[in-house]
Amino acid sequence: MIEREAAPGIHRIEDRNTNFYVVEADGRYTVVDAGLPISWPSLKRAVGSLDRIDALVLTHGHFDHIGIAEKMRSRLGIPVYVHEDDVPLTEDPKPLGGRRGPLRYLVPQRKALPIGEVHRLTDGTLDVPGSPRVIPTPGHTAGHVAFHFPDRDAVLVGDAVVMLDPFTAARGPQIVSGSATADPERALESLDGIAATGAGTVLTGHGPAWRDGAGAIAERARERGVT
Ligand SMILES: [Zn+2]
Ligand SMILES: [Zn+2]
Repeated sequence: MIEREAAPGIHRIEDRNTNFYVVEADGRYTVVDAGLPISWPSLKRAVGSLDRIDALVLTHGHFDHIGIAEKMRSRLGIPVYVHEDDVPLTEDPKPLGGRRGPLRYLVPQRKALPIGEVHRLTDGTLDVPGSPRVIPTPGHTAGHVAFHFPDRDAVLVGDAVVMLDPFTAARGPQIVSGSATADPERALESLDGIAATGAGTVLTGHGPAWRDGAGAIAERARERGVT
């Protein structure tokens, strides 16, 4: 499923309850996260022409967010950016404990390939289409980051806060359930950084777009706490 203009110039691609995004700027694209190993056709549908993609930026290294990363890198020569602390996950991607949630999106499927070469994300604004600002949001993983696109009034938060927990199928703003999150207390603290963007639209790794503001989604997730 592709939701065009989830935010201005930002398209949401959803495969098996997992989101990744294409951000358009002057006819060029930055892809945020890389879906599942089955997500290649969805990416092609979303961008039309694959040679317009300049960069892949990853919120974190979990297998459901790097599914076609290695294919994008090796076939298309697209540079892949990830935070230093999540590099180990990209070198050895594995399903989280082999769990199967009620949504069954974790049913065995082709494995995500290790990413052959990555670039370390730096703080500040990235020189890729859309000029995202890197917001450190550790907790779900040690090197989790969010990407703020100030001129789109949108922040792409990966699994720092989600609208659907892929393991429990619970809906609404929340951090991902305890066992799939490395450090839940730290994940709750990282909500402050998301709130501080003041973005109107929050686009998460799982579930629909949230359009009531970054402050409100952070508050709701904090209230819900660790599940
Ligand atoms: Zn994750
Ligand atoms: Zn995820």
